Amino acid sequence: MIYQANSARYQSMDYRRCGNSGLKLPAISLGLWHNFGDATQVENSRQLLRHAFDLGITHFDLANNYGPPPGSAESNFGRILREDFLPWRDELIISSKAGYTMWDGPYGDWGSRKYLIASLDQSLKRMGLEYVDIFYHHRPDPETPLKETMRALDHIVRQGKALYVGLSNYPAALAREAIEILDDLGTPCLIHQPKYSMFERWVEDGLLDTLQEKGVGSIAFSPLAGGQLTDRYLNGIPADSRAASGSRFLNPDQITEEKLHKVRQLNTLAAQRGQKLSQMALAWVMRDEKITSVLIGASKTSQLDDAVGMLANRQFTAEERAAIETILTG
Ligand code: NDP
Repeated sequence: MIYQANSARYQSMDYRRCGNSGLKLPAISLGLWHNFGDATQVENSRQLLRHAFDLGITHFDLANNYGPPPGSAESNFGRILREDFLPWRDELIISSKAGYTMWDGPYGDWGSRKYLIASLDQSLKRMGLEYVDIFYHHRPDPETPLKETMRALDHIVRQGKALYVGLSNYPAALAREAIEILDDLGTPCLIHQPKYSMFERWVEDGLLDTLQEKGVGSIAFSPLAGGQLTDRYLNGIPADSRAASGSRFLNPDQITEEKLHKVRQLNTLAAQRGQKLSQMALAWVMRDEKITSVLIGASKTSQLDDAVGMLANRQFTAEERAAIETILTG
């Protein structure tokens, strides 16, 4: 059936300015790391994208290597874009990245100009796009001069192949250096994409302050710790869950009794607030004004509904904040 976007899609989402830029991002963005590769039925992926957009989620985040196999998330997204979303291209913020291993040999990894420019050209072909809205360097490269990587990002913007650029997984001091190089080149850094959740808090130690000082936005990836900060694993490992899927990134051994003990207490606190744990976990990441957007994954459309439902209950009392700290550090 031909897709008709929900005409009420802009009524409930919150759009937040990304740093000092002119761009606003939805408070909730959807990542295509899982559930968009060739192992997923394309119709499931299509339903997720349609439902997200109908809820006002205008930002879809990809990378060259998302799949499996690498590249297939971009190819499948390209197909759905062509079939469903072309009338709405200008209402979408589409991002991609390069920085992790993508192809064999010395030019398919890390941060050289050669790799970044070739990889983005491949990504654009797979997605059938002339440009991405945001292009990221996916991780720092300890060997390539930072200036070379930043010059490649600047070049990509000047070529018109990306409208904005961003950094991902850069520690605070290196992010500062990269942001300053980009400023000097005349292509400001729009955004940083770090991992941030109740279980992973490194960004609190300097990165968020640096970004605020420099006027750079931030989008927190894996805010649900891949599903651990939800009710998914409270009664065992469901067969359709990420932990049961053979993922390298979340396996049953990581769902420890110690973590479950915390998750149960957090779940009780969320219920007292009248929300699901997944919603409290997202609201908690967004409690800091420096976070522009939370970048979630979803395997079911109901998970998108849960995420958007969080927007109605985002405030924490001082007691609730303290109770969460006690649970997390306990
Ligand atoms: P999350 O922490 O949001 O985990 C998403 C998973 O949690 C879902 O796939 C689902 O797992 C489960 N889940 C989501 N909502 C609910 C709910 N309401 N109830 C129960 N379970 C729920 O994020 P991801 O780890 O998926 O990462 C999100 C995005 O971040 C990626 O797609 C990617 O765009 C980006 N990313 C960036 C990285 C980088 O280096 N820059 C690295 C990793 C991710 P299930 O399958 O079990 O249903």
